[in-house]
Amino acid sequence: MSHAVAAPLSGANAIPAVEIPTVDLRELAPWALFVGLLSVLVVFFVSTDQGAVSVFAGTAIHEWVHDGRHLLGYPCH
Ligand SMILES: [Zn+2]
Repeated sequence: MSHAVAAPLSGANAIPAVEIPTVDLRELAPWALFVGLLSVLVVFFVSTDQGAVSVFAGTAIHEWVHDGRHLLGYPCH
């Protein structure tokens, strides 16, 4: 009676070494700030512009974001 010994994986059965990429937070910070400010700007135009205040004259921005305003529950009309 012989015992089968598991052979180490090699050749076609070899598991490739996976290198996990790292993200440097100092490198990410300016992009996070940029996206954060952009998000605040979008939320401002959806929620407030041409309601309580108006940056641009006319109703174009209000019409463009009107459905989003209702979807997010901001007061409108
Ligand atoms: Zn409305």
